[in-house]
Amino acid sequence: MSTRYVQSVAEIAVVGAGIAGLASAVALTQRGHSVTVIEERTDTTSGAGISIWPNALAALDQLGLGDQVRAAGGRITAGAMRWKDGTWLRRPSGERIVTALGEPLVVLQRVALRDILAGALTPGTLVDGVAVRGLSTTATGVRLHLTDSSTRAADAVVGADGTHSVVARHLNGPLPHRYAGYTAWRGASSLAIDADLAGETLAPGAEVGHVPMGPDQTYWFATERAAEGATAPQGELSYLRAMLANWAEPIPEMLAATDPAGVLRNDLYDRATARFWAAGPVVLVGDAAHPMRPHLGQGGCQALEDAAVLGAFVELAVDLPSAFAAFATFRRRRVRGIVAESRFIGRVVNLPAVLSGLASRATVVLPEFVVTRHLASIAAGSAFALPKRNDAQRA
Ligand SMILES: Cc1cc2nc3c(=O)[nH]c(=O)nc-3n(C[C@H](O)[C@H](O)[C@H](O)COP(=O)(O)OP(=O)(O)OC[C@H]3O[C@@H](n4cnc5c(N)ncnc54)[C@H](O)[C@@H]3O)c2cc1C
Repeated sequence: MSTRYVQSVAEIAVVGAGIAGLASAVALTQRGHSVTVIEERTDTTSGAGISIWPNALAALDQLGLGDQVRAAGGRITAGAMRWKDGTWLRRPSGERIVTALGEPLVVLQRVALRDILAGALTPGTLVDGVAVRGLSTTATGVRLHLTDSSTRAADAVVGADGTHSVVARHLNGPLPHRYAGYTAWRGASSLAIDADLAGETLAPGAEVGHVPMGPDQTYWFATERAAEGATAPQGELSYLRAMLANWAEPIPEMLAATDPAGVLRNDLYDRATARFWAAGPVVLVGDAAHPMRPHLGQGGCQALEDAAVLGAFVELAVDLPSAFAAFATFRRRRVRGIVAESRFIGRVVNLPAVLSGLASRATVVLPEFVVTRHLASIAAGSAFALPKRNDAQRA
C-alpha cells in the first residue's frame, strides 16, 4: 500500500462549490492540505432556504461552523402535518421533537450557508467560471481537463459536482437519470407564520411545506405532478397562487407575500446512487455520490455529514486512497436508507390523486412515538457518527 500521502501536504482539487464541495474543502483544509475548489458557475447564489437538521448541525460542529449556522437562521421544531382544508393529520409536540432530535433544526437562506462555508476557506481557494470536463489518473495522482482547454494536476480529487457529476461518471460510466413525474417550487415569503404550523400541508397529488426562516420570513416549497419541462405561462407564482387559493392559511397569504422574482421551479429527477464512490485518489461526496429526492430535507445535510466524515478519515487513514475507500464503505451504510425513504415518500405524496390522498391520511395511524423515533434515527444530532480508528483500518 502506498504511503505517499502520510504526514505530507497533498494538493487536492474539489470539483464543485455546492454544499458538499465547500464543506469538504473546509474539512480538508483543516487537515493541512492545499485545496482548490473548481466551480463552473460564477454565481452559485439561490433565493431559496434550506433546512439543516440536528444531524448536520453535529457535522458542522466538527467543522467548527455549527454555531455560526445556528445563529444565521430560524430555529424550529417542524413536523406539523395538515390536510389542505386545515384539518390536522399530525400535530407533534415541539418539546417531544426537540427531546428526540437533541435540538431544534435550523432554517436559513442557502446563500447564508454558502457564505459561512466559503468564509472558512483560505482566500484564493475557489476558482470559478471554469468546468471540469474530464479527468485521467496518472502515476502521481490525477489530471483534470478543464473547459478552458487547460489542465490541472492534483494528488487527489473530490467529486462534489452534483447529480450530473463528471467525476461520478469517470468512476462509474453512464449514470442515467429519469424524471420523477413531479416538479418542485421554492420561495421565501415576507409573512412570518405561526411556529406551530411549521411542517406540511397535503392534498391529493400535491404538498406544500412552510417553515419559519428567522423572525420575519417563511421558507416554503410545493410539489405537484406535472409534465417534464412544463412551465406556467402566467408565471410560476401566479400559477401557485391560483392553484392553492382555497388551501388553509397561511398558504394563500404566504404566497401573496412572496416576491415572484425569487421563486424557483425544478423538475425532480431520480439518479441511482453511484456504485463506486472511491477509486485510488478519487472520491465522491454529496449528490454526486448519492442524489436523493428532497422530501426528508436531507440531501444537503448528508453532504455536510460526508464532509465531516471525509475529514475524519483523512486524519485516521495512512494515505488518501485508503481514507477515501474507508469513507465510501462507512457512509454508504448511513445514506442507503435515507435515499430509499426519500424516494418512497415522494412516490406516495405524488401518486395519482386518490391514491396519494389515501396514503397520506394512512400515515396518521402510526403512533406519534414511532414517527418521532424514526425521525430521530435520521435527523437527530446523535444520528451523525464519526468513524473510529477501526473503521479506517477495515477498508
Ligand atoms: C426542492 C428542493 C428542496 C431541498 N431542500 C433541502 C433541505 O431543506 N435540506 C437539505 O439538506 N437538502 C435539501 N435539498 C437537497 C440539497 O439541495 C442537495 O442535496 C444539495 O444541494 C447537494 O449539494 P451538492 O454540493 O452535493 O451538489 P450541488 O448543489 O448540485 O452542487 C454541485 C456544484 O458543482 C458545480 N458543478 C457541476 N458540474 C461541474 C463541473 N463539471 N465542473 C465544475 N463545477 C461543476 C455546480 O455548478 C454546483 O455548484 C433540496 C433539494 C431540492 C431540489
